[in-house]
Amino acid sequence: MKFVVILFLFGLILLITFSKRIKGLVGEKTISSILLLLDKTEYKVINNIVLKSGAVTTQIDHLIISDFGIFVIETKNFKGWIFGGENTEYWQQVIFKSKIKFYNPIRQNHRHINALKTCLKEYPNLKYKSIIVFSTRATIKVNTSKDVIYSYQLLPFIKNYQEKNLSIDDKEIIFRKIKSDNLINTFDKQKHIKSIKNRIQKREKLINENTCPNCDDNLIRRNGKFGDFLGCKSYPKCKFIRNI
Ligand SMILES: [Zn+2]
Repeated sequence: MKFVVILFLFGLILLITFSKRIKGLVGEKTISSILLLLDKTEYKVINNIVLKSGAVTTQIDHLIISDFGIFVIETKNFKGWIFGGENTEYWQQVIFKSKIKFYNPIRQNHRHINALKTCLKEYPNLKYKSIIVFSTRATIKVNTSKDVIYSYQLLPFIKNYQEKNLSIDDKEIIFRKIKSDNLINTFDKQKHIKSIKNRIQKREKLINENTCPNCDDNLIRRNGKFGDFLGCKSYPKCKFIRNI
Protein backbone atom coordinates (compact mmCIF):
# COMPACT_ATOMS: atom_id res chain seq x y z
CA MET A 1 0.00 0.00 0.00
CA LYS A 2 2.78 2.39 1.01
CA PHE A 3 4.52 1.55 -2.25
CA VAL A 4 1.43 2.50 -4.27
CA VAL A 5 1.23 5.88 -2.53
CA ILE A 6 4.90 6.56 -3.18
CA LEU A 7 4.50 5.54 -6.82
CA PHE A 8 1.49 7.83 -7.13
CA LEU A 9 3.37 10.80 -5.61
CA PHE A 10 6.34 10.13 -7.84
CA GLY A 11 4.07 10.09 -10.87
CA LEU A 12 2.46 13.34 -9.79
CA ILE A 13 5.85 15.05 -9.43
CA LEU A 14 6.88 13.80 -12.87
CA LEU A 15 3.64 15.09 -14.36
CA ILE A 16 4.08 18.56 -12.80
CA THR A 17 7.69 18.90 -13.94
CA PHE A 18 6.87 17.65 -17.38
CA SER A 19 3.84 19.86 -17.93
CA LYS A 20 5.97 22.89 -16.99
CA ARG A 21 8.51 21.87 -19.61
CA ILE A 22 5.82 21.35 -22.23
CA LYS A 23 4.38 24.79 -21.44
CA GLY A 24 7.81 26.34 -21.93
CA LEU A 25 8.24 24.58 -25.24
CA VAL A 26 4.77 25.59 -26.39
CA GLY A 27 5.61 29.22 -25.58
CA GLU A 28 8.66 29.04 -27.81
CA LYS A 29 6.81 27.25 -30.61
CA THR A 30 3.84 29.57 -30.75
CA ILE A 31 5.67 32.53 -32.29
CA SER A 32 7.22 30.31 -35.00
CA SER A 33 3.79 28.86 -35.80
CA ILE A 34 2.18 32.31 -35.82
CA LEU A 35 4.80 33.40 -38.34
CA LEU A 36 3.91 30.42 -40.54
CA LEU A 37 0.65 32.24 -41.26
CA LEU A 38 2.47 35.02 -43.13
CA ASP A 39 2.33 34.95 -46.93
CA LYS A 40 5.58 33.32 -48.01
CA THR A 41 5.88 35.35 -51.19
CA GLU A 42 6.03 38.57 -49.16
CA TYR A 43 7.65 37.43 -45.89
CA LYS A 44 10.68 35.20 -45.44
CA VAL A 45 11.05 33.95 -41.86
CA ILE A 46 14.15 32.60 -40.12
CA ASN A 47 13.80 31.31 -36.56
CA ASN A 48 16.72 31.16 -34.13
CA ILE A 49 19.77 32.81 -35.60
CA VAL A 50 23.25 32.95 -34.15
CA LEU A 51 25.49 35.58 -35.73
CA LYS A 52 29.10 36.18 -34.96
CA SER A 53 30.55 39.64 -35.44
CA GLY A 54 34.11 39.87 -34.19
CA ALA A 55 34.33 38.25 -30.79
CA VAL A 56 30.66 38.80 -30.03
CA THR A 57 27.99 36.17 -30.66
CA THR A 58 24.39 37.33 -30.99
CA GLN A 59 21.27 35.20 -30.81
CA ILE A 60 18.12 36.42 -32.57
CA ASP A 61 14.79 34.66 -31.88
CA HIS A 62 12.97 35.43 -35.14
CA LEU A 63 13.83 37.42 -38.24
CA ILE A 64 11.47 38.36 -41.06
CA ILE A 65 12.86 39.61 -44.33
CA SER A 66 9.94 41.13 -46.16
CA ASP A 67 8.92 43.47 -48.97
CA PHE A 68 8.19 45.94 -46.16
CA GLY A 69 11.54 45.78 -44.35
CA ILE A 70 13.33 43.63 -41.81
CA PHE A 71 11.46 42.68 -38.64
CA VAL A 72 13.61 41.62 -35.71
CA ILE A 73 11.67 39.82 -32.99
CA GLU A 74 12.77 39.19 -29.43
CA THR A 75 10.43 36.94 -27.46
CA LYS A 76 10.02 36.68 -23.72
CA ASN A 77 8.00 33.79 -22.40
CA PHE A 78 7.59 35.28 -18.93
CA LYS A 79 4.83 35.11 -16.37
CA GLY A 80 3.85 37.89 -14.00
CA TRP A 81 3.97 41.66 -14.21
CA ILE A 82 6.65 43.20 -16.37
CA PHE A 83 7.99 46.60 -15.33
CA GLY A 84 10.61 48.69 -17.08
CA GLY A 85 11.42 51.79 -19.02
CA GLU A 86 12.70 52.36 -22.52
CA ASN A 87 16.10 53.51 -21.28
CA THR A 88 16.60 51.63 -18.05
CA GLU A 89 19.30 48.98 -18.21
CA TYR A 90 17.19 46.33 -16.50
CA TRP A 91 13.54 45.42 -16.41
CA GLN A 92 11.74 43.55 -13.69
CA GLN A 93 9.49 40.53 -13.64
CA VAL A 94 7.27 40.53 -10.57
CA ILE A 95 5.45 37.39 -9.47
CA PHE A 96 3.71 37.91 -6.13
CA LYS A 97 6.51 39.09 -3.89
CA SER A 98 9.47 37.89 -5.93
CA LYS A 99 11.20 40.31 -8.29
CA ILE A 100 13.55 39.08 -10.99
CA LYS A 101 15.79 41.44 -12.94
CA PHE A 102 16.46 40.90 -16.64
CA TYR A 103 18.30 42.90 -19.27
CA ASN A 104 16.15 45.49 -21.08
CA PRO A 105 14.93 43.59 -24.19
CA ILE A 106 14.66 46.81 -26.23
CA ARG A 107 18.40 47.32 -25.73
CA GLN A 108 19.02 43.64 -26.32
CA ASN A 109 17.18 43.77 -29.64
CA HIS A 110 18.99 46.99 -30.57
CA ARG A 111 22.23 44.99 -30.31
CA HIS A 112 20.71 42.32 -32.55
CA ILE A 113 19.92 44.95 -35.16
CA ASN A 114 23.48 46.30 -34.95
CA ALA A 115 24.81 42.78 -35.55
CA LEU A 116 22.52 42.46 -38.57
CA LYS A 117 23.69 45.83 -39.89
CA THR A 118 27.29 44.61 -39.70
CA CYS A 119 26.35 41.38 -41.45
CA LEU A 120 24.40 43.27 -44.14
CA LYS A 121 26.72 46.25 -44.57
CA GLU A 122 26.28 46.10 -48.36
CA TYR A 123 22.71 47.25 -47.69
CA PRO A 124 23.03 50.41 -45.58
CA ASN A 125 19.50 51.62 -46.34
CA LEU A 126 17.55 48.66 -45.00
CA LYS A 127 14.61 49.47 -42.76
CA TYR A 128 14.76 47.52 -39.47
CA LYS A 129 11.81 47.17 -37.12
CA SER A 130 12.36 45.95 -33.57
CA ILE A 131 9.51 44.04 -31.91
CA ILE A 132 9.50 42.72 -28.34
CA VAL A 133 6.87 40.03 -27.86
CA PHE A 134 5.61 38.79 -24.51
CA SER A 135 3.38 35.75 -24.08
CA THR A 136 -0.10 36.37 -22.72
CA ARG A 137 1.03 34.85 -19.42
CA ALA A 138 2.67 38.19 -18.73
CA THR A 139 1.08 41.55 -17.98
CA ILE A 140 3.02 44.33 -19.66
CA LYS A 141 3.44 47.39 -17.42
CA VAL A 142 6.25 48.94 -19.41
CA ASN A 143 6.64 52.64 -20.01
CA THR A 144 7.84 53.01 -23.59
CA SER A 145 7.03 54.38 -27.00
CA LYS A 146 8.87 51.44 -28.57
CA ASP A 147 7.04 48.33 -29.65
CA VAL A 148 6.45 45.92 -26.81
CA ILE A 149 3.44 43.75 -27.58
CA TYR A 150 1.62 40.50 -26.76
CA SER A 151 1.97 37.47 -29.01
CA TYR A 152 -1.62 37.73 -30.30
CA GLN A 153 -0.87 41.27 -31.52
CA LEU A 154 2.12 40.19 -33.58
CA LEU A 155 0.48 39.35 -36.91
CA PRO A 156 -1.68 42.50 -37.21
CA PHE A 157 1.34 44.52 -36.06
CA ILE A 158 3.52 43.18 -38.89
CA LYS A 159 0.75 43.52 -41.49
CA ASN A 160 0.33 47.15 -40.50
CA TYR A 161 3.51 47.90 -42.43
CA GLN A 162 2.50 48.08 -46.07
CA GLU A 163 5.08 50.36 -47.64
CA LYS A 164 7.32 48.33 -49.93
CA ASN A 165 11.00 49.14 -49.54
CA LEU A 166 12.79 45.93 -50.54
CA SER A 167 12.98 44.36 -53.99
CA ILE A 168 12.30 40.66 -54.56
CA ASP A 169 15.94 40.10 -55.59
CA ASP A 170 17.43 41.86 -52.55
CA LYS A 171 15.03 40.01 -50.29
CA GLU A 172 16.26 36.69 -51.68
CA ILE A 173 19.96 37.65 -51.43
CA ILE A 174 19.60 38.89 -47.85
CA PHE A 175 17.68 35.76 -46.88
CA ARG A 176 20.43 33.53 -48.27
CA LYS A 177 23.18 35.63 -46.71
CA ILE A 178 21.66 35.38 -43.22
CA LYS A 179 21.00 31.65 -43.69
CA SER A 180 24.65 31.05 -44.58
CA ASP A 181 25.93 33.30 -41.76
CA ASN A 182 23.69 31.56 -39.24
CA LEU A 183 25.90 29.45 -37.01
CA ILE A 184 23.10 27.61 -35.29
CA ASN A 185 23.17 24.54 -37.53
CA THR A 186 26.91 24.20 -37.79
CA PHE A 187 29.28 25.68 -35.30
CA ASP A 188 27.38 25.79 -32.02
CA LYS A 189 25.42 22.56 -32.21
CA GLN A 190 28.32 20.48 -33.50
CA LYS A 191 30.75 21.91 -30.99
CA HIS A 192 28.26 21.31 -28.20
CA ILE A 193 27.57 17.70 -29.22
CA LYS A 194 31.28 17.05 -29.71
CA SER A 195 32.15 18.34 -26.25
CA ILE A 196 29.47 16.13 -24.66
CA LYS A 197 30.72 13.10 -26.62
CA ASN A 198 34.30 13.82 -25.57
CA ARG A 199 33.29 14.08 -21.95
CA ILE A 200 31.44 10.77 -22.02
CA GLN A 201 34.32 9.04 -23.82
CA LYS A 202 36.86 10.33 -21.31
CA ARG A 203 34.74 9.13 -18.40
CA GLU A 204 34.26 5.69 -19.96
CA LYS A 205 37.99 5.36 -20.54
CA LEU A 206 38.73 6.19 -16.89
CA ILE A 207 36.13 3.71 -15.64
CA ASN A 208 37.64 0.99 -17.88
CA GLU A 209 40.97 1.72 -16.21
CA ASN A 210 39.31 1.33 -12.80
CA THR A 211 39.70 5.01 -12.06
CA CYS A 212 36.87 7.09 -10.61
CA PRO A 213 35.81 9.70 -13.20
CA ASN A 214 34.68 12.07 -10.44
CA CYS A 215 37.71 12.16 -8.16
CA ASP A 216 40.51 10.12 -9.80
CA ASP A 217 40.72 7.62 -6.94
CA ASN A 218 40.63 3.88 -7.64
CA LEU A 219 37.43 2.00 -8.30
CA ILE A 220 36.94 -1.19 -6.35
CA ARG A 221 34.50 -4.05 -6.69
CA ARG A 222 31.92 -3.99 -3.96
CA ASN A 223 29.07 -6.24 -2.98
CA GLY A 224 25.66 -4.63 -2.58
CA LYS A 225 22.06 -5.54 -2.00
CA PHE A 226 21.47 -5.81 -5.73
CA GLY A 227 24.71 -7.54 -6.67
CA ASP A 228 28.26 -6.51 -7.39
CA PHE A 229 29.13 -3.00 -8.48
CA LEU A 230 32.12 -0.75 -8.94
CA GLY A 231 32.43 1.88 -6.26
CA CYS A 232 34.89 4.62 -5.52
CA LYS A 233 37.59 3.88 -2.96
CA SER A 234 36.93 7.30 -1.44
CA TYR A 235 33.38 6.37 -0.40
CA PRO A 236 31.60 8.00 1.48
CA LYS A 237 33.43 11.18 0.37
CA CYS A 238 32.81 10.26 -3.28
CA LYS A 239 29.63 8.43 -4.14
CA PHE A 240 30.41 7.31 -7.69
CA ILE A 241 29.11 3.84 -8.50
CA ARG A 242 28.78 1.82 -11.70
CA ASN A 243 26.73 -1.36 -12.02
CA ILE A 244 28.44 -4.39 -13.51
ZN1 LIG B 1 35.51 8.96 -6.64
